[in-house]
Amino acid sequence: MPLHIYNSLTKAKELFEPIHAPFVGLYVCGPTVSGESHLGHARPYITFDVVYRYLIHLGYQVRYVRNITDAGHFEEEGRVAEDKVGGKAKLERLEPMELVQKYTNLYHDAMDALGNLRPSIEPTATGHIPEQIEMIETILSKGMAYVSNGSVYFDVLKYAANQPYGQLSGRILEDMIAGSRALEGQEEKRNAADFALWKKAPAEHIMRWNSPWGAGFPGWHIECSAMATKYLGKTFDIHGGGMDLQFPHHESEIAQSNICNDCMPVKYWMHNNMITVNGKKMGKSYNNTITLKELFTGKHPLLEKEYDPMTVRFLILQTHYRSTLDFSNEALQAAEKGLQRLLEAHKNVQEIVLNKEETATTKSLLEVDILEKIAQCENYIDDDFNTAMVLANLFELSKTINAYKNRQIDRAELSEGTIKLLQHTFTLYIETIMGLKMSTNADNGKLEEVMQTIIRLRQNAKATKDFATSDAIRKELQLAGIQLKDEKDGTVSWSIL
Ligand code: ZN
Repeated sequence: MPLHIYNSLTKAKELFEPIHAPFVGLYVCGPTVSGESHLGHARPYITFDVVYRYLIHLGYQVRYVRNITDAGHFEEEGRVAEDKVGGKAKLERLEPMELVQKYTNLYHDAMDALGNLRPSIEPTATGHIPEQIEMIETILSKGMAYVSNGSVYFDVLKYAANQPYGQLSGRILEDMIAGSRALEGQEEKRNAADFALWKKAPAEHIMRWNSPWGAGFPGWHIECSAMATKYLGKTFDIHGGGMDLQFPHHESEIAQSNICNDCMPVKYWMHNNMITVNGKKMGKSYNNTITLKELFTGKHPLLEKEYDPMTVRFLILQTHYRSTLDFSNEALQAAEKGLQRLLEAHKNVQEIVLNKEETATTKSLLEVDILEKIAQCENYIDDDFNTAMVLANLFELSKTINAYKNRQIDRAELSEGTIKLLQHTFTLYIETIMGLKMSTNADNGKLEEVMQTIIRLRQNAKATKDFATSDAIRKELQLAGIQLKDEKDGTVSWSIL
């Protein structure tokens, strides 16, 4: 089955056919760098990292654009437009760009730790002010926007009279108007549903730029439209982001790009579902916003311990990206064990040394089953990136691998070809497509070396019949939370309890 993607715009799974194969354009809304990255940032960027990785694996030349929102201007639904970056800069006594750099660096560190590949282009909003102004001028020239008191608004009613509006978010215009609250600047608008393309900067606003309409700052939505058009063209393949961005952000992007470029901007819209923490929506009012740094260090009242970034990645990939996902200590600890089991099987399968005389020459039932499961992995990933089902299948295959290693399965049951295919499958899905690896904790490689030294010392003690020492080593390690296991093949493995 070739790749199918669930398109949020049409609400259907569609065959993926790039507009200009072998090139693929992928745009994902990046973070606002006025604060530290939190758990909510982990999911979209891991989800679209797998999309990026898989498209590359399929042989496409992917241009992955992920912006940085550093202009600090937000006009969210139900919120007053505020200068997020400027406000925080005053609070932290930093230059706005110093603040932007600080949080951009922290964001990059977290993304690297989570194993996300860096995008092809990471444009900033402040670096693309002329492009945004140019786009606003085009929209004005086409009569779909109006200037009011130094600000420019998109005329949603006029647009909706001739074009579908609200298709992506499934909202009805009448409800949007009725549902909008009295916000600052609302009296400047012709209609409550109109959104800002450019805002006049109040005197206290630090970040401001000159424009044909006076000093101000661009609206949030126009930033993404301008950068996506500049780097990916008028219509590109995939636009991704969290479900919370469907309205008003993406709905506005569609309308303004459509007017500017006379075509719909995106072929496939993809949205990941949200993360909850202990069953609750994450937010300031619940006091449950966990930053990624807190998650990796365990320094948050809701966390029992620190969690490795790879555990977080694994937990996220264990759920399909369009389903809700709950974070809890229990779920994280289960993921920690699950990932370890999977990586152990991965290591075991790569370590199989083939002895040609032992391998099968005819196809066994077990082999048929393995080949079927391997083929299923491809069907699952092609079915709208169902990493959850791929992982479930790899766990099934892990059982066979471990049984083979422990000689609970006769060597003659598997052929050389099947073993090689298993090795390839595990590397492909675990490393190449899902980006999972052994702990990214810098200490971990060292820990492995230290453990091998201890294991060797214990084996030496055993060899000289110094059982007091060998038992003491085992007990001391156990107290430190590390278990040694004597394997059937004479080697010793270790695991963290
Ligand atoms: Zn965006």
